Formats: sequence, structure tokens, C-alpha cells
Amino acid sequence: MKQLIEKLSSKQLLESDEFNQLITTCLKCDNTFNHLRNKATLIVQEQFGFGIYTRGLIEISSYCRNNCYYCGLRRDNRNATRYRLNDDEILSCCIDGYQAGLRTFVLQGGEDAAFTDNRLVDLITQIHRHCPDVAITLSLGERSAESYQLLYNAGASRYLLRHEAANVSLYSQIHPSKMSHDNRISCIKSLLATGYQTGMGMMIGVPGQTIAHLIDDLLLMEQLQPHMIGIGTFIPHPDTPFGTHSAGDLRLSLIIIAIARLMHPYALIPATTALATLTPDGYLQGILSGANVVMPNITPNVARPHYEIYPGKEHSQSTITSTLSNLSQQLATIGYHINSSRGDYKKRN
Ligand code: SAH
Repeated sequence: MKQLIEKLSSKQLLESDEFNQLITTCLKCDNTFNHLRNKATLIVQEQFGFGIYTRGLIEISSYCRNNCYYCGLRRDNRNATRYRLNDDEILSCCIDGYQAGLRTFVLQGGEDAAFTDNRLVDLITQIHRHCPDVAITLSLGERSAESYQLLYNAGASRYLLRHEAANVSLYSQIHPSKMSHDNRISCIKSLLATGYQTGMGMMIGVPGQTIAHLIDDLLLMEQLQPHMIGIGTFIPHPDTPFGTHSAGDLRLSLIIIAIARLMHPYALIPATTALATLTPDGYLQGILSGANVVMPNITPNVARPHYEIYPGKEHSQSTITSTLSNLSQQLATIGYHINSSRGDYKKRN
């Protein structure tokens, strides 16, 4: 197995059966699993040192026009409490975050028609006026190429749009027929072409997913070369069609994060909230598998419980400053610290 890990680390692509062998061995053999993770963290240390980038996550709307089978924000979930932050609320999250030292804000939400291009352009302009040197990341789902261009021109420089499933038939098993794999991928391509630092990714353990599907995901990302890679574990939400399925496997999630790191040494890879929801030291486990970004939630406390993509997300009432100091203390236990710069994607040597 060590040869396969070496092969990946030297930027050679594995054959599908080699990927499969590596993943299945890591699932059952602690030595191989640890070797893979060590290799992934060494690559991060070479490229980024021991600094972990932070991004302030602002969940701007829980309204969504889509009906994804896995997501608690899906349109048909009548038990969801819907909210939408107003521009002042979003701006004041940014200003508070800025004062606490954050230099990237991620505006994430369901696909909510209230966030028109004009409104977002205004909002992006306001954020830059108050917090001049920050990076603004959007994660607002599928929009037109024109919309992506307008928002980029206004000053948004990064966009997160997980592809969710590279395999077309898996994609259609986890989304209603109205949603199209083709459109998802063409959105990602248009984000890349516009010049965004673009994030892709998928959940681990979504119902129907096999290791072969995960290999398809790794190969699609190899082809499109995203700058950011978000890999989270599927967590069932009771008010969705997938509510009675079991959660994805944490170890498999860490294995795929580590493999993604070997394949993308310069990428920005978050230790996702889903990992932290599954286990108290989830962020640290993600970092010890090759992640180098954490996205503390800075959504106003009253709204937080209602952005329920999946249950069990932490809804701490803590201030941004105390969240960051907590994170720093946690990172220190494994020898890492917060790197408070913007953390743009750079190709390095
Ligand atoms: N509307 C935006 C943001 C979606 S929420 C968009 O379409 O990109 C961000 C991510 O949460 C999704 O891309 C999905 O991969 C993940 N997610 C949704 N439901 C989940 C669940 N039940 N368990 C784990 N992750 C989930």
C-alpha cells in the first residue's frame, strides 16, 4: 500500500482498482490509514506550515427553492423555520468578524430568489467598504453565468459549489429530476472560467454511494482542478426522504480527505462542520488528515438553529472572539495555530 501512497504523492494518478485497494485497505488497516494521514499532513506542512486558515461562515438564508433529498433546507420540509438575514445583519456579522481578525467571509444559503444580483452586488460593495482587505466567498448554489460574472465584478472572489456526485446516476438518485448534473457541472466550469477560486466537493456516505462513486468524485476533481475541496460526512435529517438512513462513516471521510490532499497539494481543504458534528474533535481529525481550513460559524445566534441542513450542528451562543480563542486552544493541542491572513489559493513549489 505504501507504493500506492507514494505514487499518489508524486502526483501520479492511480488506476481505479488501485484507488479501490487503497481505500478498502485504509478502512480496515490502522497502519495504512495512519500512513496515509501522515503523508497528507506532511504535504500540508510543506506547503502551508502549521497555520490553519479561518473563514467566517454566515448562513444568510434558510429559504430554498430546491428539494435535494438529503438536505433539511429542502423546499418540501414544512417543519423547517425559514429566515433570511437582512443586509444590515449580514454587514454587522462581517464587521464583528473583521474586528475579531477574520479576513474571509463565506455567505452561504439556500437558493433564495430574494438574493437577486442587484442586492448581492450592493451587499458585496458594502462589505468591501467596511472591511476593505477581506475575501468574500459565496455559496449560494446554481446561478447563471451572467450572475456569477456580475458578482465577481462586484468583488466576490471565491465560490463554493459542491458537485455532490460526479456519477450521473448517483446524482439523480439524491436529487429530484428537476435538478441536473449537467447544470451543476456547467456552473462549476463557468465559475472557474470567470476567475473565481472555486470549491467543489461531496458528502461521504450519502444513500446509494459506493466506493466506485467516490473514485468518480476524485477523478472529476482531478479533471477540473478546484482550488477548494469541501468533503463532509452525510448526516441524516429526519424531515427529508433520507431521514431514516444511517450517517456516513467518519473514517471513510478522513481517508477521502487525505487522498484529496495528496492529489491536490495546494488546495484549500476545510475540516468541515459535519466532521465536528460527528465527533467533538472532528476539526482536529480533519486537520490530521490533511485539511488546512476551518470555517467558524458567525451567523447571528438567533438564526443559527434554523439553518438546519442536518441535525446536531453546534449552536453555541459564544461570541466570535471566544469561538476563535477556543479554536486556537484546540489547534494548539496538536501543534497548529490560526493563520489570520486571507489565505488565497496560490500555486506553490
Ligand atoms: N445551496 C448551496 C449551499 C448548500 S449547503 C449550494 O447548493 O451549494 C452546503 C452543503 O451542505 C451542500 O453542498 C451539501 O453537500 C451539504 N449537505 C446538505 N445536506 C447535508 C446532510 N444531510 N449531511 C451532510 N451534508 C449535507
